[in-house]
Amino acid sequence: MGSVEGAVVMESNMNAAVAAAAAASAAADVEERNNDESMITNLHLHSIPTLNLDQGDPTVYEAYWKSVGENVKISISASQSLSYFANPNSFCWFLVPKLEQEIKILHSLVGNAVVDGRHIVVGNGSSQLIQAALYALADPLDPPTPITVVSAVPFYSCYPQITDYVRSGLYKWGGDANAYDKDEAYIELVTSPNNPDGEIRGPVVKRANGMLLHDLAYYWPQYTAITAPADHDVMLFTLSKCTGHAGSRIGWAVVKDAEVAKKMVKFIEINTIGVSKEAQLRAASILEMISANGCSGGFFEFGQSVMAERWKKLREALRGSEVLEVPHFPLKYCNYNRDFIGSNPAYAWVKAKPGVQLEKAMNEERIRVRGGTSFGCPSNYVRLSMLGKHEDFDLFLKRLPSIIQLLAV
Ligand code: PMP
Repeated sequence: MGSVEGAVVMESNMNAAVAAAAAASAAADVEERNNDESMITNLHLHSIPTLNLDQGDPTVYEAYWKSVGENVKISISASQSLSYFANPNSFCWFLVPKLEQEIKILHSLVGNAVVDGRHIVVGNGSSQLIQAALYALADPLDPPTPITVVSAVPFYSCYPQITDYVRSGLYKWGGDANAYDKDEAYIELVTSPNNPDGEIRGPVVKRANGMLLHDLAYYWPQYTAITAPADHDVMLFTLSKCTGHAGSRIGWAVVKDAEVAKKMVKFIEINTIGVSKEAQLRAASILEMISANGCSGGFFEFGQSVMAERWKKLREALRGSEVLEVPHFPLKYCNYNRDFIGSNPAYAWVKAKPGVQLEKAMNEERIRVRGGTSFGCPSNYVRLSMLGKHEDFDLFLKRLPSIIQLLAV
């Protein structure tokens, strides 16, 4: 379970509490002292709080939601939402109709997914929907041996664990999609923009008997240009990365085939007997507010500016460095902005020279990041989250020169 995003978040909250307390009293002092010194040395590392840039915990949007204040608030009386059912006549009987409506309105406004004539399945985060979709795709084949699930490297680090942790008889993790060469049925997870490297992706295997699962968690304007409405068989989205409300645990799937959608619902029925109505109602209000504010002065505009600012600062801090590099992305026409925009991914996929143990080097400087091996890559890569708190990101930028200096020797 080590690197499961949610599980580590629990752990990080404890670290964050400790780090926040320490940061409040010591951070300014520590960073001031750092200015006097050319680099952080092990001698005073004990006084430096550990920065957690490991998880994609989307607190970056907190300032926006604080500015919204009391305007988006739901209150639920004790008599409301007692039933397991939200819409007994619908195939997805636990989906609150208002949430379905707001999901469809938002996709139509942003233009990132075709929703007309599609089936919406709500889940406890898209993490549950990944499992529901694997079940829905694999079960009808009644496979004698588990179907292989692949994704191209670097793949989202939780896919192997999500696929294998219950040792299903229906599917098993098969690693890098580029290496898949069998003629048997397989499922390819296509993540676009990709976690961890922000690349826009399509399927790589392209063989007969393939089934595709598109994870579009980051296909929103704050991360990348919206070039066309996505129209794949199964598409997964999550409130966590769309609006930053990871704590509500709401994700949704947009599904073409009614039978696949029904199977996904069956999985969620058996797994958790639906999804919290409180969380769905909150998600519906948040999405409604975003759509009502429209394209200018709204949430995505805030998201674009804060993410662009972070990437600008990171690139400036790395300028001239020959020891660390991050990917560059071309400008693309964004239908949502009606202009050419760059990509500002949720993570920086940082590369050091071959042979460098980059996660270890950063850990030694009290910066927690996720190492390349978690994503099927060598350990001279790390993923660092661009979604965390402002204070942490700024502290990271202050420490970056000393890491660059250490790696240069
Ligand atoms: N897919 C991808 C690509 C992700 O990065 C994440 C979160 N890190 C998820 C799925 C899961 O998101 P959640 O369960 O919070 O909806």
